[in-house]
Amino acid sequence: MKSHADWNDCYRDGNLPWDTGHPSSELQRVVGAHAIRPGRALDIGCGTGTNSIWLAQQGFDVVGIDVAPLAVERAKQKALAVDASARFVAGDVLALTDRDLRPHAGPFEFFFDRGCYHAVRRTEPNRYAAAVARQLARGARGLILAGNAREPHDPGPPVVSEQEIRAELGTHFEILDLHEFRFDEAPGVQVRFLGWSCLLERR
Ligand code: SAH
Repeated sequence: MKSHADWNDCYRDGNLPWDTGHPSSELQRVVGAHAIRPGRALDIGCGTGTNSIWLAQQGFDVVGIDVAPLAVERAKQKALAVDASARFVAGDVLALTDRDLRPHAGPFEFFFDRGCYHAVRRTEPNRYAAAVARQLARGARGLILAGNAREPHDPGPPVVSEQEIRAELGTHFEILDLHEFRFDEAPGVQVRFLGWSCLLERR
């Protein structure tokens, strides 16, 4: 289980098996297939900002947050380099305040989470949904991509079962769609890990 400092160390050491450098194929598919219109969006555990930048390029008004300050630094530099409007703040998704997000405070209309929920739930399974829902407008949608317990790998992403997803997220969200997908391949990783693609709507 990684501490906040451990996450930052991953960015310092370049130990980033999740960082494909390309916007998530599943994010692109879902935004198209479900006609998710550009609006205020939160990228939770944004890493080096690739998906935030893609969303900004689609017209979303994006704030990326990550607990690792080095990730946020890198994301800011990447956005600057391609002149993308995405903004980034360092913060813990479980303890987000309006002050952290100012001047970009919600309510947000969409959120994306690739790999943060499945990590934080290992120690705090019951805090994520409430913390995220608090930042969202009623009816806001969100897409979570998480590792799938039917195919655990080590090394590989943390995994979660369908039952756990429904129990932990169903409290604050209606689960609009839950299906299996495969994560995009990352450099140097041969396996495309099995995941859950979970589309939610805030109650
Ligand atoms: N979404 C990015 C990064 C995935 S790795 C991508 O797809 O490339 C998971 C990310 O969640 C890491 O960048 C890590 O620093 C971040 N993270 C872990 N715990 C967090 C927390 N409590 N709050 C915010 N971010 C967190």
